[in-house]
Parts: sequence; structure tokens; C-alpha cells
Amino acid sequence: MHRRTLLRGSLALALGLPAMTAAESEPWDVVVLGAGLAGISAAVSAREAGAERVLILEKTAVAGGHALLAPGTIASARPEVPNDVMRMAREIVERGGADADPALALSLSAGSIAARRRLESLGVDWIPQAHWAVGAASPRTLTPRTAMGGYEFVQLLSAEAVRHGIGTLFGMRATGLRREKSGRLTVEARPVTPEEVLTAELAPARRNDRVMHFEARAVVIATGGWGANRRMRRRYAPDISDSVATTADPQGLFGDPATGDGIRIGEDFGADLTGMPHVQLIPYAGGRTTDVAGGEIWIDDSAARFVSEGESFAVVRQAMEERGIDHFWALSDASTLKNAGIGSKLASGLVHECKTLEEAAVRAKLPIEALRRTVARWNDSVKQGRDADTGRPLLHARPIAVPPFYIGRETLLVHFTSGGLRVDARTEVLDRRGRPIDGLFAAGEVMGGIHGRDRLSGNAITAALVFGDIAGREAADCALRRR
Ligand SMILES: Cc1cc2nc3c(=O)[nH]c(=O)nc-3n(C[C@H](O)[C@H](O)[C@H](O)COP(=O)(O)OP(=O)(O)OC[C@H]3O[C@@H](n4cnc5c(N)ncnc54)[C@H](O)[C@@H]3O)c2cc1C
Repeated sequence: MHRRTLLRGSLALALGLPAMTAAESEPWDVVVLGAGLAGISAAVSAREAGAERVLILEKTAVAGGHALLAPGTIASARPEVPNDVMRMAREIVERGGADADPALALSLSAGSIAARRRLESLGVDWIPQAHWAVGAASPRTLTPRTAMGGYEFVQLLSAEAVRHGIGTLFGMRATGLRREKSGRLTVEARPVTPEEVLTAELAPARRNDRVMHFEARAVVIATGGWGANRRMRRRYAPDISDSVATTADPQGLFGDPATGDGIRIGEDFGADLTGMPHVQLIPYAGGRTTDVAGGEIWIDDSAARFVSEGESFAVVRQAMEERGIDHFWALSDASTLKNAGIGSKLASGLVHECKTLEEAAVRAKLPIEALRRTVARWNDSVKQGRDADTGRPLLHARPIAVPPFYIGRETLLVHFTSGGLRVDARTEVLDRRGRPIDGLFAAGEVMGGIHGRDRLSGNAITAALVFGDIAGREAADCALRRR
């Protein structure tokens, strides 16, 4: 929709959209779909790169997407470690396999330092020492000091967006794209009811629905992943049962906005997809209490460890499948750095605080002698600096010795979708013949090609920030050329 019509709408007035004196029929420079970290980052970078009129469309009532729920651990190349940018890129490709594009992996690792500094410049403070996180490949994970780091990132970047005069239309779900004769793109969108926001399939527009059109010189799709879309899961990852919930909504209480809209919008517009079978399942919302690999041990119902806690999430999943188990127990003591969610996990009974190992065994119905043996062997491994069960070095591992002990049942949930829109190094979306779709960019979890079959811990938020920044700057550049 052109500015004239938009500004007449009570919605726009209620939201106080900026730059109201601009020429009435002027299209937007950049329209961003989705106000997650990738979308907000793209919008801010587009403004910083010279785009004047930037608008975000967000289908829910709040900005932030999945980052609102995230502890905000991020992976970053370490400036003080020689060649660490290359090493981080290599780790991404080694974990990701053939569907991890080395050029995108290098963009991610090279951009990770600037992304981290951007957060620092906005006021984010980290716990001093980088650690080896569960699901990571080396000790490069930074944890914010605040309990809900992802929420903090959203607040800080949103404030930046407001300072730049960027408007966000909430409750506005993008549904399609079309190309104008002028070459510009028009985004079709609909104000949605609360019930419609989280449905995987948006019902066709009814007669009285207000379908709105936003014409733009460049568009950035930043609508996040598709882990909550059961129909897409059945198509691309049929081995995952419909009953498996997502980490964004483990109990099915709130709904998860990761419905894959941007994938469908892109596909309908001729975009190619890449890496679609790669859906990451992780242990997260149950008994786990710490993100530090080796800060807790994972044991089955016979109190035996079955995998290295420092392994990749794909290996953890495989180990569980091989053992034929659908859950395990996470056990730690009082000495490890606990995640922010520990309070609510204790309150809801997901995690039990126990004075003794015997009490932990009773809580989890584990054989006590086997548990004692497993803990003793683990503590000995920690002392030796090498895991006696797997042969792996133990860098930040802790013995399980200081009461109280914490134990809780953990399962795998859908966490992240690696597959998505295929893009080039400028994040311009590619069509099925590998040609860039002029003026259409993608950033964040909606884009495929970075992480491949197994994403490393902390790389999702870093990717949202890094590729949001690239997409925003490229979209601004495209818009300025089109003026
Ligand atoms: C519980 C949890 C914890 C996590 N913790 C971490 C962590 O600590 N570190 C890490 O690196 N990663 C973490 N992740 C992953 C990380 O948060 C996400 O991958 C990342 O935030 C994705 O950002 P995004 O902007 O691409 O997508 P999203 O955050 O999903 O944002 C997309 C936005 O687009 C909106 N949208 C969708 N469709 C439309 C449409 N049609 N029209 C308009 N708007 C639309 C959505 O409502 C949403 O606001 C976590 C994820 C979860 C679920």
C-alpha cells in the first residue's frame, strides 16, 4: 500500500509511523517481514546505510520472535586467537556437511566479531570467560550477564530502531509478493486476529478482510524458521513425529510463530530452497540446567552415560535413537553456572533439588549403586581432564560433588530449522536457476545454506545479527540505486 492510504488508517496513526511528511505516493525504501533479531537488525542497518523509509511488518503483537525466549548465548570468533575466523568457519562446515555453504560460513564467522561488538556498544555485558557450550565445537560461547539475554538484545535493538524512526506494524501478517511493472516489489499482507497469528496455514482472505499492499524498492524476508509447521515437517523431515513439541512452546501453551511463512512466500515467488531436511532437535526444556558442556552428566534409566555431553546435537539424537530411549536424566551439583530457567524448572517440578545422590536416585527411580559408580567414574575423568567413557578432553567439566544435586528428565524437542531460502553472499534470494531475485533479500533462520545438517550452539543469534546486517545494508543499497 502506498503511504497515503496507510497513513489514513487508524492502525498507522495508533502506531505513530515516522516520516509522515514524505511524498504521499512514495513507496517504501525497504520493507522487512518479521521483527525478530534478524528483521530488526536488517531494518536498523538499512537505515544506517542510507535507506530513508524503512518499515517492519510483524504478525504477532510483540517484537523479538524466538530471541525473546533465548538465554542469548552467542558464538563469536575470538579476536585474540590467531586464525579463529577461519577456524570458526571450518567448524561450521565440518558440522554442517555438504549443505553448509563455505562462503556463508565465512561471512558468519567474520561478521561474528562485529555482531558481538554491536551488542556491547548497545550495553550488553558478558560473563568474562567464553565457555564450551553444549552443542558447540570449541570454547567460543559468550553468555550475557542478564538472565534473559535474548530479551535484552531485542529491547536494545528495538530501541535503536525507534531512534532511527523505523515503524513496525504489529498484527500484520505478510502473505505474498508481486513484481510491479516499475520493477519494485509489493508485499501483500493482512491484519490478523489473535487466533490466526500462529496457524500454520493462513485461511484465504475473506471478502471483508483488509488485504494491504506495501510497495517497496527492496524487501527483506526475516520471518524465522518453520519448526512449528507440522505440514512442512511431515514433508521435509517425516521422521519427526507430529507429537514432538518445539522448544519455543514445550507444553503447547502459547503457540510458536515459526510457521514458515517466509519460505512459502519466497517459494511462491520462484525462490529456491536449500537444506530442508535438516531440522535440529535438542534437549532443552526439561531437566537440563546448564549450558556448559561437562557442567552436568546425562544418564539413562540404568544410570549409565550414553554420549559425551560435549557432542553435537545430531550425535546426541543418534545416540538416543541407537539406545532406543526417548528421554534421559540430567544430573549436576551446586557448583555449575545454572541457566536462567532453573527457578521455573524447580518450581514446576521439571528439576528436583536433592540433598544427596541417594535422594536424586529415588526422585528419578535410578539404581543407586549404578549411579554412584557413574558419578565416581565421571569425577575421576574430570580430575584426569579426559572422559574415560569417550576419550574426549574435558575442558570446563565439573565433578559432581557439592550438594545440593539437581536432577531432571530431559527429552528432545524441535529447536531450529537449518533449511530455508537459498541466498547468495549478499543475502539476495536465488531463484531455482540460481539467479538472484532482484530486490529480494533474506536473513536469519528463514535462510538456508549456513548450518547444514547440524548447527553449532550460539550460531543462530549470531547468524540473525550478521545476516540481518548484511541484508539491511544490501537492501538499502538496492533501494538507493532504484531511487
Ligand atoms: C527457546 C529458544 C532458545 C534459544 N536460545 C538461543 C541462544 O541462546 N543462542 C542462539 O544462538 N540461538 C538461540 N535460539 C535460536 C534463535 O533464538 C533463533 O534462531 C533466532 O532468534 C532467529 O531469529 P530470526 O529473526 O531469524 O527469527 P525469529 O526470531 O523466529 O523471528 C521471526 C519473526 O517474524 C515474524 N513472522 C513470521 N511470519 C511472519 C509473517 N508472515 N509476517 C510478518 N511477520 C512474521 C515472527 O512472528 C517473528 O517475530 C533459541 C531458540 C529458542 C526457541
